[in-house]
Amino acid sequence: MSASAKPPPFDPADPLGLDELLEPEDLAVRDTVRAWAADRVLPEVAGWYEKGELPGIRELARELGGIGALGMSLDGYGCAGASAVQYGLACLELEAADSGIRSLVSVQGSLAMYAIHRFGSEEQKREWLPRMAAGEVIGCFGLTEPDVGSDPAAMRTHAKKDGTDWVLSGRKMWITNGSVAGVAVVWARTDEGIRGFAVPTGTPGFSAPEIKHKWSLRASVTSELVLDGVRLPADAVLPGVTGLKGPLSCLSHARYGIVWGAMGAARSCFEAAVDYATSREQFGRPIGGFQLTQAKLADMAVELHKGILLAHHLGRRMDAGRLRPEQVSFGKLNNVREALDICRTARTILGANGISLEYPVMRHATNLESVLTYEGTVEMHQLVLGKALTGLDAFR
Ligand SMILES: Cc1cc2nc3c(=O)[nH]c(=O)nc-3n(C[C@H](O)[C@H](O)[C@H](O)COP(=O)(O)OP(=O)(O)OC[C@H]3O[C@@H](n4cnc5c(N)ncnc54)[C@H](O)[C@@H]3O)c2cc1C
Repeated sequence: MSASAKPPPFDPADPLGLDELLEPEDLAVRDTVRAWAADRVLPEVAGWYEKGELPGIRELARELGGIGALGMSLDGYGCAGASAVQYGLACLELEAADSGIRSLVSVQGSLAMYAIHRFGSEEQKREWLPRMAAGEVIGCFGLTEPDVGSDPAAMRTHAKKDGTDWVLSGRKMWITNGSVAGVAVVWARTDEGIRGFAVPTGTPGFSAPEIKHKWSLRASVTSELVLDGVRLPADAVLPGVTGLKGPLSCLSHARYGIVWGAMGAARSCFEAAVDYATSREQFGRPIGGFQLTQAKLADMAVELHKGILLAHHLGRRMDAGRLRPEQVSFGKLNNVREALDICRTARTILGANGISLEYPVMRHATNLESVLTYEGTVEMHQLVLGKALTGLDAFR
């Protein structure tokens, strides 16, 4: 094309022309997930959020399995074998509906299934992965404890050998999908170091009371896991890893999805703000005609599409096998922080209506408070980058 060729028209929905980076198969994945979320989540989610529940979660999981969204970027065992970019696009579309739905998918695919796929035995993979990919079995991932969050090396949950069996005792806290899970991937201290266990949740001694009174991620199941002398056979341990690198590599995979997902929540708020700004009139004209509102919208659009570009870049690196955990930290730190800022700015544009569940803005903003904290807080990712930049470890 010559330098004098006419560029395509400006598209407010895609100001940087980022769709041109996508292949037809990528667009097909995005459209499928977007249509599913528009049909199954958007009409109901405000009500779920208001009641603080996710009714029909098992049916939703089966439908998500049906569109290939569970364990999407894993190969074999009924998984879709999608690219990292396609998985990211799915996360963005799901989180544009609600962070709770994206969390369901992230924990299932990137934490529970990923752990079994990467570190499990062939028997464990065959036992769990096909049913998890189909959404017939929901998984959860137990790392955080009541007294142990950012520093999982200090975990107290332990597993002791008794003959050939393992006996697990301890408590996990803030576990997404916990009370609806059929299998819990639980990380515990052993004499050999930290090990992962695939725990069938019907095992005696296991219980998962749901955590109530959340003001964020209300359309998501969050639970405590109680492990009271849970006796497991020798083959319940994930044989492929010992040490914290096991859970940390799962978290890196899930965080990658969040880099995209957060931009979905931001897009939803941005769109609500543009709609509102062009229809709401004050002082005799649409509020979008005031320079101060336009400055907000312009800044929101810049951060939104920079964030999507960053997510795409990281996705390509992941597909090429070149993505480093520090780069995932870079993406999570930036995109969740900026998404929250976009949602809060959208809230101001909607004025009083911004606090109403009639609009998605406040729901997304409160959801992102959790997203800012889970999968590594802002401060943890700053410390990861600080260490990578200086060579100095400031964690302790
Ligand atoms: C809705 C929700 C769902 C979740 N789902 C799961 C799940 O499925 N599985 C799971 O295992 N966990 C889950 N979590 C837990 C989440 O991963 C933890 O909340 C997170 O790791 C932070 O731990 P914490 O809350 O104990 O905070 P803490 O670690 O106690 O940190 C509190 C504050 O201190 C700061 N801080 C800590 N250490 C340092 C330091 N060295 N320097 C500077 N600042 C520091 C932190 O950044 C933070 O601001 C979930 C959390 C929420 C809210």
